[in-house]
Amino acid sequence: MGCNFYAVITSGDSESERHIGKRSASGYYCWDCDISLCASGHDDVHGSARFLDHCPVCGGGKETESIESSAAGRELGFNKLTAKRKSGVKGASSFSWAMTPSHFDELICAPNVHVRDEYGRSFTRDQFSEIMSECPIKFFRSIGVDFC
Ligand SMILES: [Zn+2]
Repeated sequence: MGCNFYAVITSGDSESERHIGKRSASGYYCWDCDISLCASGHDDVHGSARFLDHCPVCGGGKETESIESSAAGRELGFNKLTAKRKSGVKGASSFSWAMTPSHFDELICAPNVHVRDEYGRSFTRDQFSEIMSECPIKFFRSIGVDFC
């Protein structure tokens, strides 16, 4: 369950795509302490790992989110809220980079480049920054690897 994002480079009548990476719902996260509730650490959020019931740092409990506001609902298309950083213990997403963030920063500065997701929705640089604010967990092990 996730969504791929691409940098679309327009040149004359043609365009090409570069894979930026993939956002995936990644379970409960304490947004106040910046820590996943995954018992074995955030590297295991997409495995079959056990999740704690409370934040191990502040003790905050999981808050219920509706499908219209949750990270899972985001991937299923029900959450249409503007993406933003949350607070308390709520769902979060990870982002697996397919290119280095610095390469993306260089690309997106060009006037002929924008972001598009796998469903064909286009985003400005600022809108993509909002999307990334819901992805506090970043993975870099897929940089330069073809994946989807
Ligand atoms: Zn906490």
